[in-house]
Amino acid sequence: MTKIIQKELNNKEGRVKFSCPKCLNTDITRTLNARKIGTKYTCTCGFEGPN
Ligand SMILES: [Zn+2]
Repeated sequence: MTKIIQKELNNKEGRVKFSCPKCLNTDITRTLNARKIGTKYTCTCGFEGPN
């Protein structure tokens, strides 16, 4: 339990970078906060998602 919380805190300032799950050509960078509040992202290929 404590370890999980610690990990969350360590990632608080970090960003998550991943390839678009649809076209795999575009790198999408999101902040943890963006994920937390469910900000949508839109790739240049038209894909959009909450995470
Ligand atoms: Zn894409």
